[in-house]
Amino acid sequence: MNRQQILNHYRQNPRLSVLIIGAGINGIGTFRDLALQGVDVLIVDKNDFCAGASAASSRQAHGGLRYLEHGDFRLVRESLAERNRLLLNAPHAVELLQTTIPVFSWFSGLLNAPLKFMGRLQKPSARGYIVVKLGMMLYDWFTRKNRATPTHTMLTRQQALERHSHLRADVVGAASYYDCLMPQAERIGVEQVLDAEAANPAAHALNYCAVVDGSGESVTLRDDLTGESFTVQPRLVINAGGAWIDFVNRALKKPTRFIGGTKGSHIVVDNPTLAKVVNGSSVFFENTDGRLAIFMPFRDKVIIGATDLRCDQPDDAVCTDEEIDYFMQFADHILPGMQVDRSQIVFHFCGVRPLPASDVEFVGLVTREHSLRVIEPDDSIRFPIYNLVGGKWTTFRAFAEETADKTLSFLGISRKVGTEDLPIGGGRDYPRTPQARAQWLHQVSTRTGVPLDWLTALFERYGTRAEAIARHIVAGADAPLEGLPSYSRREIQFLAVQEKVEHVDDLLLRRTWIAMLGLINGPALVAIAGAMGEVLGWSADRVQQEIDRTRTLLTTRNGVPAERLTV
Ligand SMILES: Cc1cc2nc3c(=O)[nH]c(=O)nc-3n(C[C@H](O)[C@H](O)[C@H](O)COP(=O)(O)OP(=O)(O)OC[C@H]3O[C@@H](n4cnc5c(N)ncnc54)[C@H](O)[C@@H]3O)c2cc1C
Repeated sequence: MNRQQILNHYRQNPRLSVLIIGAGINGIGTFRDLALQGVDVLIVDKNDFCAGASAASSRQAHGGLRYLEHGDFRLVRESLAERNRLLLNAPHAVELLQTTIPVFSWFSGLLNAPLKFMGRLQKPSARGYIVVKLGMMLYDWFTRKNRATPTHTMLTRQQALERHSHLRADVVGAASYYDCLMPQAERIGVEQVLDAEAANPAAHALNYCAVVDGSGESVTLRDDLTGESFTVQPRLVINAGGAWIDFVNRALKKPTRFIGGTKGSHIVVDNPTLAKVVNGSSVFFENTDGRLAIFMPFRDKVIIGATDLRCDQPDDAVCTDEEIDYFMQFADHILPGMQVDRSQIVFHFCGVRPLPASDVEFVGLVTREHSLRVIEPDDSIRFPIYNLVGGKWTTFRAFAEETADKTLSFLGISRKVGTEDLPIGGGRDYPRTPQARAQWLHQVSTRTGVPLDWLTALFERYGTRAEAIARHIVAGADAPLEGLPSYSRREIQFLAVQEKVEHVDDLLLRRTWIAMLGLINGPALVAIAGAMGEVLGWSADRVQQEIDRTRTLLTTRNGVPAERLTV
């Protein structure tokens, strides 16, 4: 069903089993799981899919080494298992990420874990070689039966300096290990939405549809593209509103204080020397204030992050000048002599971690565990509300499974399908070896007529979904986009029609990495809006509105220099 058909359907049939509020990765994971079990379920988001915290993460599928220090062994074990599953199930969107942790002392930090255990740790002290080594050993131990990444090695001072020139000279050594990077994390979200709808005709997803009110058996939704409201009557509501969970409950007249969000920003810099120093390996280090920070290779760019600041108003969260100043001193601290300046920023992004409410002073110590908090029905609201509090991107599948199991038990339905080994989107039938990949590319190129080098670029972006895109591309007259010739008009049009795109920014920010990699420019913006308008039936006015909207968003929220977007 298309958007209009879904809206008409619920206007005529307001009763349904489950309404999920919030289509970040936790809501989407739950939506997919319930859809696979045959449940009639609707997921709505007031923004686009994966536009909240799920678009703002450091993009690491990781165990979270530092949580060992907090004694969160269960979380680290689960995260590592889920990281490995993601690598297996979404190989087109998750890749190995070599990581270096430089250390500057031998014994420091040994007391962090015991003090945390006794509840007396205000702020962790610097982690030395021994502590990092112990953490590394535990990391490897947790995955010994299901090894998907190489085990760690400890680098000597000399080896560390060879891997990363510019590293501070007082380094005593470094740990080297592997986690995973999800360069296009948002695609893992939207592809699950599409998988779920394809698997179950009674599962529907609507972006730009906000929950605004609730009472009795009804929840009022507002279609934000038209401003029209309608009501649905779910048997159960899942509040996956992330940092907005308490706002959603307030709209449902059930005030809560589940969340104590912290905002985190990152910048993406175009600095070839820094990219060379980073040398394909993320550098994970402690800043002067004790916070962990990262330089991460991101294709030919480098991501620098992240902050961790309390934030009660997630709608207003944006990377500020002060945060950029904070990032600018990272290089002096860890890579002295390396010049990083504001003019190199091509993009920045920010989001609010939906952490559980806590009075802890140093927010880095708040647990990243997830929990399901239930609001029971009563006279004012006749359906239970399951609230998805906390969690990490990496662990979404496990959290979704737990939520789906509880929901199925409420509905009296038994589980039919598991998601542990289920491929996602373009990870389906993925050729895993270099030979299988070469064969796949050759065969699809022959079948579709799309030249091999172009198909290879599509494969890198979309995995095996590249075949459907290639078929679409050859079915009509195509041309490279003005200002962005590595993309073509029909590729953009395929995404616009097939992937629930409503605005140009959905496509630039969450269906592709065009904006994040700093590839957008004025002519490309106009060409993309025009190509989308053709297939989405936009008037010339609407195309212009989309161009203006995207310019405003990219310049005010993502730091894209305005002059880059002029024609
Ligand atoms: C800076 C930063 C770095 C991080 N790094 C990592 C990392 O490297 N690895 C990792 O595993 N995790 C990381 N995380 C954590 C991870 O990103 C989050 O835990 C996860 O994305 C939360 O997903 P969610 O679905 O719960 O929330 P969100 O993605 O925020 O989704 C909530 C959704 O609810 C919607 N919503 C709100 N109100 C309404 C309403 N009234 N009606 C309809 N919809 C509504 C919002 O629009 C939003 O899309 C990081 C987080 C941040 C902020």
